[in-house]
Amino acid sequence: SDSHFPIPISPAHVDFSLHFPKFVEADNKITKKVEFADIGCGFGGLLISLATLFPDTLMIGMELRDKVTEYVKERILALRRTSSEGQYENISVVRTNSMKYIPNYFEKGQLSKMFFLFPDPHFKEKNHRRRVISTHLLDEYAYVLKAGGIIYTITDVEELGEWMKACLEKHPMFESLTQEELYSDPVVELLCSATEEGQKVARNGGQTFRAVFRRIAYVS
Ligand code: SAM
Repeated sequence: SDSHFPIPISPAHVDFSLHFPKFVEADNKITKKVEFADIGCGFGGLLISLATLFPDTLMIGMELRDKVTEYVKERILALRRTSSEGQYENISVVRTNSMKYIPNYFEKGQLSKMFFLFPDPHFKEKNHRRRVISTHLLDEYAYVLKAGGIIYTITDVEELGEWMKACLEKHPMFESLTQEELYSDPVVELLCSATEEGQKVARNGGQTFRAVFRRIAYVS
């Protein structure tokens, strides 16, 4: 339950210096803010791929399951230890319930990318309120994303894919990326190839359903 992990009362109370020691200056202040958040990061495959693609960007995975979070922590520490080029210092993970505590971690306009990759489907109608993409939660995501920030979603469950796309389409603060923008974004292909869930779907020859939207600057 929630009582098993600390909940910061505001983003100012989150000490990311412990997560990113190589980005800490002499006065113990962190030099950068986290910009990417992988929500429900699972085993951390996406973070690990993004770490070397964006070596100067701080990224955090958010994961509810304790053991999975511990696994990702260890995985990142091992990569840091064995990297000869000082890589993987820019990724880390926190255990939290992202459906409740996103605004406790990030300030308004802090994030430039948010990932919701292969989230749990919650098939039954009465459980739709547990889905990580909903009109209500998109209000929170629009708040923590900066103008021009991108939200990436993908699933192998067609009905959930339709649902996430419909929520994003009807939200006033998001617009779909064009085909050209999708092709030129190097992150898009990682949604499947870098995530453990995506790899599993690919092995089984399954289909995926993607929705990638931009947080707009204002509502006209
Ligand atoms: N994104 C990863 C991937 O594509 O390989 C993992 C996908 S897995 C099917 C969904 C993950 O979301 C699980 O690891 C689960 O524990 C996590 N999760 C579910 N609800 C969550 C919540 N409210 N907050 C944080 N993580 C959550």
